[in-house]
Amino acid sequence: MQTSTTVTSAWQRLKDQKISCEEALKLLVDEQGTVNLALLDRDVSCRFLRHFPDKNALPKVTPLLLWRGCYYLGSPVSLSSEAITSLAQRTGSEIKIITIADKSYRAWFHTQDLNLNRISSVPLVNPLTGEDYQEDITETTEIYLSKSSDQIDRIKTLLSGALRNRASDIHLEPLSDGLRVRYRIDGVLRDITTLSADLSRKVIVALKVMSNMDISESRRPQDGRIGEKYFSTEQAEMGMDMRVSTLPCMGGEKAVIRLLPRQNPFSNIERLGFSQETLATYKTWLQQPQGMIILTGPTGSGKTSTLYTSLQAVANEHVNVVTVEDPVEYVLPRITQTQVHEAAGMTFAAGLRAILRQDPDIIMVGEIRDCETAETAVRAALTGHLVFTTLHTNDAVGAIPRLKDIGPDPGLISDALLGIVAQRLVRRVCSHCAETYTPNEADLQALGLEFKEASSPSWRKGRGCSRCFNSGYLGREAIVELLDIDNRVREIIYEGTITQLHRYLGEINFASFRTAAIEKVTNGLTTVEEVLRVIPKSALYGKSLTKQNSGNGHGVVREVELLN
Ligand SMILES: [Zn+2]
Repeated sequence: MQTSTTVTSAWQRLKDQKISCEEALKLLVDEQGTVNLALLDRDVSCRFLRHFPDKNALPKVTPLLLWRGCYYLGSPVSLSSEAITSLAQRTGSEIKIITIADKSYRAWFHTQDLNLNRISSVPLVNPLTGEDYQEDITETTEIYLSKSSDQIDRIKTLLSGALRNRASDIHLEPLSDGLRVRYRIDGVLRDITTLSADLSRKVIVALKVMSNMDISESRRPQDGRIGEKYFSTEQAEMGMDMRVSTLPCMGGEKAVIRLLPRQNPFSNIERLGFSQETLATYKTWLQQPQGMIILTGPTGSGKTSTLYTSLQAVANEHVNVVTVEDPVEYVLPRITQTQVHEAAGMTFAAGLRAILRQDPDIIMVGEIRDCETAETAVRAALTGHLVFTTLHTNDAVGAIPRLKDIGPDPGLISDALLGIVAQRLVRRVCSHCAETYTPNEADLQALGLEFKEASSPSWRKGRGCSRCFNSGYLGREAIVELLDIDNRVREIIYEGTITQLHRYLGEINFASFRTAAIEKVTNGLTTVEEVLRVIPKSALYGKSLTKQNSGNGHGVVREVELLN
């Protein structure tokens, strides 16, 4: 769908005697009762609404035209003759009612309080019930865009729409037919609209101006921030950090706006998505005076949220908490955060050495990539410091060979480690449209469950509704695998093999991804499809293979292959 730039309203055309009143009404309202909002005239609304200082007293009407002493009003309901008489008396005009669709009335209503000159995340309110209005994002965005008179307004409209719909990123991509606009909501991109081709370049240039980028340069990538001067008071309350980046591509430049809340979203460790048992174990690690906690997972797995929330949980007035990060994603209270700057010699290793000279209690090393950082971090964890760090591995067990590969002595690693958490983010079943269902054979097989183990009645799926954009999911939470380093695991790290470790974990009640997936799915928090989407297959099936093939050497070999 395309958004037009400027249109002459039906009323204006009528006044210019280019069309008749009947033709004007036909242009405004089609046979299904859908109103072409772009053709309405603001002036007609203003004149009509002036008679009603208290808008609550107004029945459900949309002013369409004012012609020869008569207001033509659209309404989705049939008005009583008393209501029509009262409207006629208040306006001193004749009143004619045209039936319009409820959807059109609501869409018109939302454009009434519209102030395009501000970025606002205030949810839309249903004029009929006073409840939050579940907007059709595409429809609302297109209506608002059609009312925007310049590029800055268009960008603010897109920002407001993104904020109202919990989007984390806005993608603007030049295509042959215009500028495609997509929002990332709960980790998934959604098409919102396409701005017409004549606007495509102009919008990108305006965005670059807003972000203090060099507009004469379009052949190299740039990054910037949407400056303070564009923030209204509402925005200051929102505390949004809007980071913009551009990338030269076929057909122009692609821009991505990342929306990061400035206020601290990392306060509640209970809400991360840990199970009761894993959270209890994890909390015991946080209470240790020394040792190393490793978080693993790919980019976008929510590691940073878990790290920051954990740091917030341990930072108090009695301890010195220092981080070295690349980059610092959020500024946290009560914590000294430093940023890696390779060119200036501030590497992870150099930063960590400097931190250790400043009497720290708790240290977070953003990532361990080299031997020196690994050794320094492990030694720090053995000498009275609680150390947090991350590694890129598929699962929790994978962190052990990875750390050994980087270099520190296995004896020191085994002594230093408190535990390893691997995590992913799964989307939650939308509670507004959730329905229970009976799992089929394939569902059970995916989790390696017997039918009797899955008799729980609370498997749920979202049917899809306006709140979740028909996806059936709303919001995300972590799904975690937690490896607690007990004495046996310590021994195996020191002188055993990964196969021995897996065998041991198969014997104890290891809090694997599979265990977590079963708990979340059987409790109706997420779905089998979602688990299969985010959890590596090896992590999900490794344990069931061991179980099926216990005592069979062949099974162990298969399992090791899967884990590599
Ligand atoms: Zn829903």
